[in-house]
Amino acid sequence: MKVKDGIIGLVVGDALGVPVEFYRREDLEKNPVTGMKSYGTYNKPAGTWSDDTSLTIATMASIINKKCIDYSDIMEEFIEWRKNNKYSQEETFDIGITTRNALDSYTPGINPLCGMGGEGDNGNGSLMRILPLAFIGNIDYETIENISSLTHRHERSRIACVLYVEIARSMISNSNLTINEHVKNASAKIIEYYKDSEELSNFKRIFDDDYSKGVSGKGYVISTFEAVIYCLENTNNYKDAVLKAVNLGDDTDTVAAICGGLAGIYYGFDEIPIEWISEIRQIETIIDLCEKYEVACDEYL
Ligand SMILES: [Mg+2]
Repeated sequence: MKVKDGIIGLVVGDALGVPVEFYRREDLEKNPVTGMKSYGTYNKPAGTWSDDTSLTIATMASIINKKCIDYSDIMEEFIEWRKNNKYSQEETFDIGITTRNALDSYTPGINPLCGMGGEGDNGNGSLMRILPLAFIGNIDYETIENISSLTHRHERSRIACVLYVEIARSMISNSNLTINEHVKNASAKIIEYYKDSEELSNFKRIFDDDYSKGVSGKGYVISTFEAVIYCLENTNNYKDAVLKAVNLGDDTDTVAAICGGLAGIYYGFDEIPIEWISEIRQIETIIDLCEKYEVACDEYL
């Protein structure tokens, strides 16, 4: 089941990164993460996931409940998470600045596509929650962009979300290609569709498969994207891909979540270490949601 492959891949990556979020790469090189850890940055038990998972499952829950994509409803579920800790294990402990600003400036009834649109609002906060759209067979680019715009409305973030969904869709529909071939497939579509956009130049290293200047685990959407593809292309299994992402340091949970979503689809649920899955908090609830979401994608969308 591709939904479970991708979403559990994302959740496990998030939880692996939470205990070391904001750690420096030099420190992780001396003491690398090798599995689920307790405590650390937020002093949480092993298997605790964060905003990346919360906003991903909030999106899925809205689509299941509404049997369609209802931007206002998704936004209101995000607000429920922000204000009332819905889709969390306890109180919300991790939120990005752009997401917080967008949610705090939203009131029911206004246009929900009201996310922050400045050049400085290009963190990875919409990219980290966009994966559910990859499982909707007839999704169009405008819809993907609009889901980004709930919080991240700048064109760079919107294109990043479309490229990510296209890579995931390539992996879902062709199981015989390499990761690099999936990235090339998706890139060709994005280059054609956005050919008049000056924003494309920011994606050049991804399109050219050029990571010769190195990658970082920083939260800027382009840095994150480059790191994710680098980690996928320089490993050959789920476990090594997400650990490589975590051990880049900085925005460890989100880089590993975004990497883990694609790695989960590419390698499949059975390749995600079961000892990691079994430590994930509320795992039964998340798997149940994946099953309901797969039905919703097949029947309603
Ligand atoms: Mg997080």
